[in-house]
Amino acid sequence: MPVVSVSMPAELIDRIDALADEHDYTGRSEVVREGARTLLSEFDDDRLEDRQLAGIVSVLYDFGTQSIEHRVTEIRHEHEEVIVSNDHSHVDDYCLDLFVLEGDLESISTFVGTLRTIEDVGTVDYSLIPIDSVGSLQDV
Ligand SMILES: [Zn+2]
Repeated sequence: MPVVSVSMPAELIDRIDALADEHDYTGRSEVVREGARTLLSEFDDDRLEDRQLAGIVSVLYDFGTQSIEHRVTEIRHEHEEVIVSNDHSHVDDYCLDLFVLEGDLESISTFVGTLRTIEDVGTVDYSLIPIDSVGSLQDV
């Protein structure tokens, strides 16, 4: 298979190597391949295609990092068609932006993907549910 050269912080490489050791991967290449497959499959979910979705997205980053806060605000404005509400809180030494979303898979995945491109952002997590499935738990 082709070999690619990827630049990443030394700390991330150390964590990949530690994960490879702890979980008996053949090496960092196998970890990176699996990580790439996981990321690619993340939004490739047939259950969510062509359905209106409700979503929650959390963005966590170091307190007072103005470049990140500014970029989050820009992205919020660029994607306001999917954002129902947004809240900015402080948890320990971190800023936590919470977004409630409504939209299709493509628009929500574009929003999440754009947030993940922010340099030095801590974590970007999300949860999605098809709106037409809400209430089906009551029928069980
Ligand atoms: Zn803040």
